Amino acid sequence: MRRLSALTAGLLVVPAGNACSAPDRYREAREAMVAGQLESRGIGDRWVLDAMRDVPRHLFVPAHHHSRAYADQPLPIGRGQTISQPYIVALMTELAEVRPGDRVLEIGTGSGYQAAVLAAITDEVYSIEIIPELAAEAGARLAAAGYEVEVRAGDGYLGWPEAAPFDAILVTAAAPRVPQPLLDQLAEGGRLVIPVGEGFQQLEVYRKQGGAVERQPVLPVRFVPMVGQVRDEE
Ligand code: SAH
Repeated sequence: MRRLSALTAGLLVVPAGNACSAPDRYREAREAMVAGQLESRGIGDRWVLDAMRDVPRHLFVPAHHHSRAYADQPLPIGRGQTISQPYIVALMTELAEVRPGDRVLEIGTGSGYQAAVLAAITDEVYSIEIIPELAAEAGARLAAAGYEVEVRAGDGYLGWPEAAPFDAILVTAAAPRVPQPLLDQLAEGGRLVIPVGEGFQQLEVYRKQGGAVERQPVLPVRFVPMVGQVRDEE
């Protein structure tokens, strides 16, 4: 578990004798989400299920959406962006086969929720967000919730060469094509999970094996577009 205790972070004071501390108010909602939206649809990776049970998703959505934080849907997070539906976060994490000790890169930090789910499994998580305000807010939110994630504002197209190679890379915005720098930064045996396409998008997994890259299409999805340098190639 890569989550520092909220007390260590000096953020939470739980009155003595109060069994229902603030982060646990939504525990039942999370259990219902895991059973009803994830296990029922075939998510079986115990690391993923434990992380989804553990991460307080409501802390990553705007306050006026707290009541819908665990619903089976994406939600707006401001600046035209969205936090993905819980099932999609779980599926991408499962497809990336993230394990403790893995070095993982996320492109598209958004709210920071997917990064928190990754950080609940491994302590080497890097995330890049192109909108500077979202990067700053997500970085602060992750730190306040006790997750150790390196967040950088910038274009994820170029990856994070200083921290490469990565065991897993997750792209949470749809790219017209797979950015070559991200494939280059995959470790041997590494997995890249990315929605590819315009209009019609497909979630795809690229696995580097023996120097070659093998592609596996998974299912149709709908993500906000990846912007920046990936569009210059068009
Ligand atoms: N993973 C996020 C949801 C991401 S929405 C979460 O858990 O909340 C997609 C995000 O990708 C948006 O915040 C968008 O600004 C960002 N994005 C789009 N193009 C990008 C790029 N080239 N580099 C980095 N981030 C990008």
